[in-house]
Amino acid sequence: MSSHIYIYIQEGIDKCNEMREWMKTPSGKALVSSLSRHFHTDSYSDRQNLTTLFNKYVDKTNVFSWNSVIADLARSGDSVEALRAFDSMRKLSLSPNRSTFPCTIKACSSLLDLFSGKQTHQQAIVFGYQSDVFVSSALIDMYFKCGEIRDARILFDEIPLRNIVSWTSMITGYVQNGNALGAISLFKEFLTDEKEGCADDALSVDSVAMVSTISACSRVIAKGLTESVHGFVIKRGFDEDASVGNTLLDVYAKGGEGGVVVAKKVFDEMAEKDNISYNSIIKVFAQNGLSSEAFEAFRKMVMDSDASFNSITLSTVLLAVSHSGTLRHGKSIHDQVIKTGLEDDVIVGTAIIDMYCKCGRVETARKAFDLMKVKNVRSWTALIAGYGMHGRASEALDVFYRMINAGVKPNYITFVSVLAACSHAGLLDEGSLWFNTMKDKFGVEPGLEHYGCMVDLLGRAGHLQKAWELIETMKMRPDSVIWSSLLGACRTHKNVELAEISANHLFELDPKNCGYYMLLSHIYADAGRWKDVERVRILMKDRGLVKPPGFSLIELKGEIHVFLVGDQEHPQSEGIYKFLKEMDRKLQEAGYVSNTASVCHDVDEEEKEMALRVHSEKLAVAFGIMNTVPGEMIHVIKNLRVCSDCHNVVKLISRIVDRQFVVRDSKRFHHFKDGFCSCGDYW
Ligand code: ZN
Ligand code: ZN
Repeated sequence: MSSHIYIYIQEGIDKCNEMREWMKTPSGKALVSSLSRHFHTDSYSDRQNLTTLFNKYVDKTNVFSWNSVIADLARSGDSVEALRAFDSMRKLSLSPNRSTFPCTIKACSSLLDLFSGKQTHQQAIVFGYQSDVFVSSALIDMYFKCGEIRDARILFDEIPLRNIVSWTSMITGYVQNGNALGAISLFKEFLTDEKEGCADDALSVDSVAMVSTISACSRVIAKGLTESVHGFVIKRGFDEDASVGNTLLDVYAKGGEGGVVVAKKVFDEMAEKDNISYNSIIKVFAQNGLSSEAFEAFRKMVMDSDASFNSITLSTVLLAVSHSGTLRHGKSIHDQVIKTGLEDDVIVGTAIIDMYCKCGRVETARKAFDLMKVKNVRSWTALIAGYGMHGRASEALDVFYRMINAGVKPNYITFVSVLAACSHAGLLDEGSLWFNTMKDKFGVEPGLEHYGCMVDLLGRAGHLQKAWELIETMKMRPDSVIWSSLLGACRTHKNVELAEISANHLFELDPKNCGYYMLLSHIYADAGRWKDVERVRILMKDRGLVKPPGFSLIELKGEIHVFLVGDQEHPQSEGIYKFLKEMDRKLQEAGYVSNTASVCHDVDEEEKEMALRVHSEKLAVAFGIMNTVPGEMIHVIKNLRVCSDCHNVVKLISRIVDRQFVVRDSKRFHHFKDGFCSCGDYW
């Protein structure tokens, strides 16, 4: 309080207008209430009252009073006033003491005011406090914050007796200024110093210094560094400290391959796990596609730990579940959300919508959406995107119109979702309309993704030339998504010339992706240009490209079954192949002609061999039918794009066995029902 009164006195009664403004601030209001307490009046224009109040609290001739004013101001963030108070004190010819300096210097640091910082440093020298450990630590911190690493180091070297605060300031300063190597070597120096005990107080590393040192490890490429610091952590018992453990976990997780395993080990061995620890490990799992592990960590957090989860935890674990499409886990998280009453949190609610959509349950997503009390642009967009990825464009657009009517302004992602919905369903007119008006009507400039959707729409409708012209008008560089959708359209509409143009761009943008080579090769094959097919094959071989193996996942009674192409490993393998053979007969009767032979004719010997083996999605579908009751929907996830032969087969099977299948491939969702697919045979 004294500091606020001080400011008031300093400002003077003449600046009445400014003061009236100031009175509206929290500090001003506090003063008014203090005035009314002391004088039974809230008249702040009475200078006499204020001066009395100030004198009552602040003895102007006393350094300690000034120190408390400066400290109070610096702590409450009024750094400018703190420096002004220091000035006023000096004008009264009072000599600052060792407690005056650290706060004044801190005020300079937070203002990044190097000039005042250097002046204060001078004053500290004049009064003989430059080697005081608290003053010098504050100065080190100030120089680092102002980016003066050299000055900080000189000062540090001059301190006769360093304590843990000065060491920590130095190590942290190095890390914050991007000099991780400096931090590490300083830590080594520190250990030597510590051993020799050349400090006045008991010099011993603390957890703050440890956190800085560990985080420096992630920025230095040195084999075994993190491990050796980790060893030290254990030796000194810092592994009991949650903040140290969390930093270690983070550093290992960033360490690339194998890092996740060690991060998990660190997490498991942590004696104290707080919610940051849980959130970190769940995030690590989610980012590395380990959705079951993410879920398991979440489950432990809920069941047996003291750490309380929040909306960040929930949206991270839901993201992990969405990636893997494990509905069972998603549902149980949803239950947990309802139990804890977090369903009204807009971030969590939106993550739930996204999860249900990605797990193939767009109806459930819709229900969750309708129940949401507060919806923001992200929630609306998540539902639009959900309908879009399931090929239900009319519902997507319906939600979009409702959103606009509700007065919610669509953003960049909303338009990506709207256009993607149009492109999945081939709604060219609708898509063009929004693409052409999004900027003028809603101020959203079309970006790469929007162009991508338009190229897809035009290409799908057979307007290849127009699609290519649109690409040519783009202000930004077209990416591989755009060229690959043009390439895909070129295959459907048999345009070799534009296919070659697109493929050349793709080979440049994404040279390691063999999908483009395969696609171009198929286009040549369709046109009967076998020499070119051979040329592409050699090109692939020269560049050392091998097609990644396809696999499909299916979740059954809480267990995930993985099928590789031509898989014979599954315990039910025999039954599955028998089922497919039986199905083959029924397919022939339904008029099915296998197109593997025709497509792969002369394409590639290896490819032909692969084509003869049963694709993983067929195995998964057969397994699904065999192990579920009639009427139950079957969900399959495929890592690559579904090939046209499998697409055809699953369509027919859906009619033959009267079952619905949802296949999520690398591009979109396919809902198979009654011999048709929601994608309209375009994907
Ligand atoms: Zn296939
Ligand atoms: Zn489809």
